[in-house]
Amino acid sequence: DPHTGYIGRFAPSPSGPLHLGSLLTAVASYLDARANCGRWLLRIEDIDPPREQTGAAKLIIDSLIAHGLHWDGDILWQSQHSESYEAALTSLLNQQHAYYCSCSRAQLAKSDGIHPSSCITPFVAGDAAIRLKIPQTDAVFSDRVQGSQRYLSDQIGDPVLKRRDGLYAYQLAVVVDDASQDISDIVRGVDLIDATAWQIHLQHALSLAPIRYLHLPLIVGDDGHKLSKQSFAPAIDDQLAKDNLRRVLRYLQQAPPAPELDIAGILQWATQHWRADHIPTQTALPL
Ligand code: GLU
Repeated sequence: DPHTGYIGRFAPSPSGPLHLGSLLTAVASYLDARANCGRWLLRIEDIDPPREQTGAAKLIIDSLIAHGLHWDGDILWQSQHSESYEAALTSLLNQQHAYYCSCSRAQLAKSDGIHPSSCITPFVAGDAAIRLKIPQTDAVFSDRVQGSQRYLSDQIGDPVLKRRDGLYAYQLAVVVDDASQDISDIVRGVDLIDATAWQIHLQHALSLAPIRYLHLPLIVGDDGHKLSKQSFAPAIDDQLAKDNLRRVLRYLQQAPPAPELDIAGILQWATQHWRADHIPTQTALPL
């Protein structure tokens, strides 16, 4: 029931099972949506087959269910959404908000990865990536945890929207689908806060509605690196769902639920007592 206008989402890539860090993101986005009487959607970001792990999507879904994190409506699978990404690209190219780029990595490295305007060739397709042309305006937004953010136009570079190998880039798919699902609020890890600047530029270029952002601290391992599927962080044990939920709530500095509560009870308690303003503002939390 969309009576509050809040629509949140959890958008995992199926590159591995959930670990404690991705569970923290799932729980925080779920609680923020429920505490605002909003909807909470699940989107599987399966647009990068080389980085996919067979069976990971099912493991993620099973873990969400085991932890009582029930989403609204149908799962959106990005692999089935190519038409909407293609339509967005066509519109961007037609309006010259995007261009074909056949620069090599070595060429781009010479300019610190910032695409030199000298080699922009607007209408040449073929063996090329498609990039968003970042305009001369800064991206400014206010993050609910990290505060006000400003990304200078000439320091962020033109992001790839469609790769040379034909795969759609995360930046494109995430913006198109956040809009197609009417997402009002994004709650995700602070490792994606820099990407927000690109996503805001892309929203403007596509005339899409603005979104509120809340970027969460990351749980980091002994080596100081965030827990990630790439670093083979251990999968969460669904048998320990109650403990996992309590652990994640501690990281988020939420009021501890009473000891006797079951999974549904913990989530209900945590929804009622949800305080987004208690989330630690530091970007890294030691495991
Ligand atoms: N699919 C991305 C990931 O798993 C997250 C996308 C997002 O929340 O914007 O890291």
